[in-house]
Amino acid sequence: MPLYGGIEAGGTKFVCIIAENPESVIVESRFSTQTPEDTLSKAVAFFQSESEKLKQPLKALGVACFGPVDLIPSSPTYGYITTTPKAGWKNTDIVGHLKSQLNIPVLFDTDVNAAAFGEYTWGAAQGLEDFLYFTIGTGIGGGALVNGKPLHGMVHPEMGHISLPHSWEKDPFAGTCPFHQDCFEGLACGPAIEKRWGIPAPKLPPNHPAWELEAYYIAEAMRTFICTLSPQRIILGGGVMEQKQLFPMIQKKTLQSLNGYIQSTRLIDNIDEYIIAPQLGNRAGVLGAIALAREAY
Ligand code: ADP
Ligand code: ZN
Repeated sequence: MPLYGGIEAGGTKFVCIIAENPESVIVESRFSTQTPEDTLSKAVAFFQSESEKLKQPLKALGVACFGPVDLIPSSPTYGYITTTPKAGWKNTDIVGHLKSQLNIPVLFDTDVNAAAFGEYTWGAAQGLEDFLYFTIGTGIGGGALVNGKPLHGMVHPEMGHISLPHSWEKDPFAGTCPFHQDCFEGLACGPAIEKRWGIPAPKLPPNHPAWELEAYYIAEAMRTFICTLSPQRIILGGGVMEQKQLFPMIQKKTLQSLNGYIQSTRLIDNIDEYIIAPQLGNRAGVLGAIALAREAY
């Protein structure tokens, strides 16, 4: 069985696995994100020692990375984390470091593009070529598959930073985004919920008005992405979406907001299969990294 390495490189934690597919995850290691030197050395040590124990070299490594990142192969900073506000991580050569230490092909994409690719390969988007994957957690990010390929474009999409209708009367909370204040992420990420209501999001009861407002913002964002990209499906993951009561609320509000304009049976008759949870759960990112690694051949 060929083995691949996968890393989900997050701002809070790194998850590393060796696997062939979701059914054959051989080993896993999780550690908190410290300095780039410490964290990348830990990842390298994990893959080296585990593949030695398995007596089998890894064929390739996939990295699902927090961003912003440089994905343009011809760029001198390809494979770098670029302008992140995360202390110590600005201009970090992720791919270069891993490639030089492990001597195997390294495939690299944003965390959400990789998660989308994982869901495409093994999860909730099998058979679809054009769809979106969002994480609604510490931040909000969106990945897009277009014609079955992760969309990069000029840099890569930053779908968490679109603007949304924000009624200051109904919601006087200013938003948390240091760049745009009340963008989608600024109004609807986990920390925004906590700051608005003064209670950590996981502690708010399911019937708290926080969730109606959250569903409203997410639904308005869904309308924007449905109208701009016409996705065949939208997958919503991340910590905030552990609140499963949000799904029917978002589905209903999205239809209300579109107001019958877009006539597709996917939307009108099957909204509960259109805006859905990831099938790979919280492993979408790291399994997406494995799916990317498999693309090396
Ligand atoms: P990250 O974005 O750091 O990868 P998560 O996707 O778990 O990690 O997002 C963390 C955020 O999600 C936090 O702001 C947290 O408050 C929120 N969160 C985590 N679990 C829940 C939950 N069960 N209900 C609501 N919010 C949650
Ligand atoms: Zn923003």
